Amino acid sequence: IFIPLLGLALALYFYSAPENFNEEMLRGKRVIVTGASSGIGEQVAYHLARMEAHLLLTARTEAKLQKVVERCLELGAASARYVSGSMEDTTFPAVVVREAENTWGGLDMLILNHIGYSYFNYFNGDVGQVRKLLETNFLSYVAMTVSALPMLKESEGSIVVVSSVAGKIGSPFAASYSATKFALEGFFSSLRHEFIIDKVNVSITLCILGYINTENAVRAISHVIRSTPAPKEECALEIIRSGALRQRELHYPPGAVGSLRYTLFFLSNLQEALK
Ligand code: NDP
Repeated sequence: IFIPLLGLALALYFYSAPENFNEEMLRGKRVIVTGASSGIGEQVAYHLARMEAHLLLTARTEAKLQKVVERCLELGAASARYVSGSMEDTTFPAVVVREAENTWGGLDMLILNHIGYSYFNYFNGDVGQVRKLLETNFLSYVAMTVSALPMLKESEGSIVVVSSVAGKIGSPFAASYSATKFALEGFFSSLRHEFIIDKVNVSITLCILGYINTENAVRAISHVIRSTPAPKEECALEIIRSGALRQRELHYPPGAVGSLRYTLFFLSNLQEALK
């Protein structure tokens, strides 16, 4: 019990987080956004562009990234570029971070958001698929963090990790995905404690998201979850806000985890789908 209490005391003493969000906080900041070719990551990029940040975007599909970069420049980004590649490739995380280092010589915010494909159904016993998903959804997050940490320590910057309610509560049909999100929770919560004990002023924000209206999510689960998904644009803004305020966790939509009603509703809809 002593170590967590010591950590908390040190946190209160050394760690001063800003209280109010102001979009100017992001002006001129150097930000990497992963999974930025579509969905929430794309919206994060557009908000940051409006806020006049410098952007380095990444995902696999070059044609989509090109369009997102063009739009970011139209919206007012201080600069915008991309690196395309797959996070299944274990060398790629370091390539992305090196690009930031070569271009900017530093980094203020690392937004880890990408996910690989996972099916929404009974676990099919394919261990290889779980291993591949762990590489994309979890190990690449760790690798990017390791590569970016020297620059983030220098800037006293922020790491933002996009996770899910499925990383807090086990629910049917998402075993592999859920495992990767629980892994993020374990790793980054532990790392945050170490930063506090070690007086490393790099914040770690875990974003616990419920159902959001991205094309891929709606395609994958709208037949099972009938509730209205939350808007990806607002979700993206909340992700940036919580990172800038150096919050430990974002829950979006609000109460997505804590509300038992939401959880029961979610599970009862799944059971209906099983009939
Ligand atoms: P999308 O499927 O819309 O976007 C995923 C992004 O990841 C795309 O840019 C995709 O681009 C990229 N990507 C896919 N595979 C790889 C790969 N192997 N290597 C590198 N990049 C890859 O996802 P969402 O926007 O819906 O989700 C974003 C985050 O939010 C995820 O972490 C997700 O778990 C979380 N979340 C989303 C919820 C939702 O309801 N939408 C609910 C809970 C959490 P490309 O194909 O070009 O590589």
